[in-house]
Amino acid sequence: MTYNITLIPGDGIGPEVSAAARRCVDATGIKVNWEIAEAGADVIGKYGTPLPDSTLASIRKNKVALKGPLTTPIGTGFRSVNVAIRKELDLYVCLRPTKSYKGVRSKYQDINLVVVRENTEDLYAGIEFEEGKAETKELIAQIEKLSKKKIRPDSGISIKPISITGTKRIVQFAFDYAVKHNRKKVTAISKANIMKFTDGLFFAAAREVAKGYEGKIEYEERLIDNMCMQLVQKPELYDVLCLPNLYGDILSDLCAGLIGGLGIAPGANLGDGIAVFEAIHGSAPKYTGQNKVNPTAMILSAVLMLDHLGEKSAAQKLDKAVAKVIAEGKSVTYDLKPNRDDPTAVGTREMADAIIKEMK
Ligand code: NAD
Repeated sequence: MTYNITLIPGDGIGPEVSAAARRCVDATGIKVNWEIAEAGADVIGKYGTPLPDSTLASIRKNKVALKGPLTTPIGTGFRSVNVAIRKELDLYVCLRPTKSYKGVRSKYQDINLVVVRENTEDLYAGIEFEEGKAETKELIAQIEKLSKKKIRPDSGISIKPISITGTKRIVQFAFDYAVKHNRKKVTAISKANIMKFTDGLFFAAAREVAKGYEGKIEYEERLIDNMCMQLVQKPELYDVLCLPNLYGDILSDLCAGLIGGLGIAPGANLGDGIAVFEAIHGSAPKYTGQNKVNPTAMILSAVLMLDHLGEKSAAQKLDKAVAKVIAEGKSVTYDLKPNRDDPTAVGTREMADAIIKEMK
């Protein structure tokens, strides 16, 4: 069987890490017809938008995509294309498994956590009102009238919607994932003591879903600030973590830190029937074109993709090869060496070569 898979190379370090991942997938022996699709700031001139319809159409058609990181200009310019892809395709699950690999320098060993982040709601919904605009002033006046609370007139406003529907489907996914992957516990995380009508609703809806798994999967709740401290102090107490969008984004980076950094942290964006696989890290623009950064996060995202396709043995083969190369510590990029200036560090391409050689 040949799979049709959309490949979005991305920008910055994206093209280098996605080329490495593509070669590794091909080397597992499965047959893929890669359909290259463009996105990002560099294609605005060509298509008039950073997210061309043809790219979305390709993902909709193939149902599976491997995506390199895309740069989002800070403060000004267009909104995040990464967020737009998730919203357009209703990829409501952001799945980020973080497990320790032997040989990676980290303060922690034996980390095995799974972050399940809601991907479509919350402060990431993109409903924002710019400071000084007429509609912002109108909104401020309305809020003051309805809530009897003062907002400074020179404020910008971002809206945080969290729904019962959105929460139930992400928590449902977390529990189903826990059952399918022999996990013991789901921890729902928010700041319900302060934001009662959004984060409080998240817990209430999560509790409803949890009732359906009583006796099978344990359920507990934590406040996000406390959770950050707990994860640093005793990560072994946790298993599957389910969070609204913004907290999930932040906590995934924290979890990536526990296993040794962004260079090795993979991810998947899943909806009903469509899946886009991408590393947690961004486009690291300062390393563009240097054949320097670690391709592991992108390659492990491809492992998640193989698993999703039902290609379990190809997934295991690639995961094992990655683990072996990292454990040996020879053909690895600078970030996996004891000293970042280690002259024996290899490049992105060469680390992928070593992983491919391991699979032969
Ligand atoms: P980043 O993840 O790109 O880089 C932060 C630092 O992490 C880098 O400077 C580097 O030191 C390290 N790093 C990242 N990837 C690495 C790798 N593969 N190997 C070794 N080290 C690595 O985060 P940032 O600097 O906050 O963001 C840069 C751009 O990427 C921004 O425009 C941001 O919006 C975008 N971004 C995109 C995505 C995505 O495409 N899903 C995700 C996060 C950030």
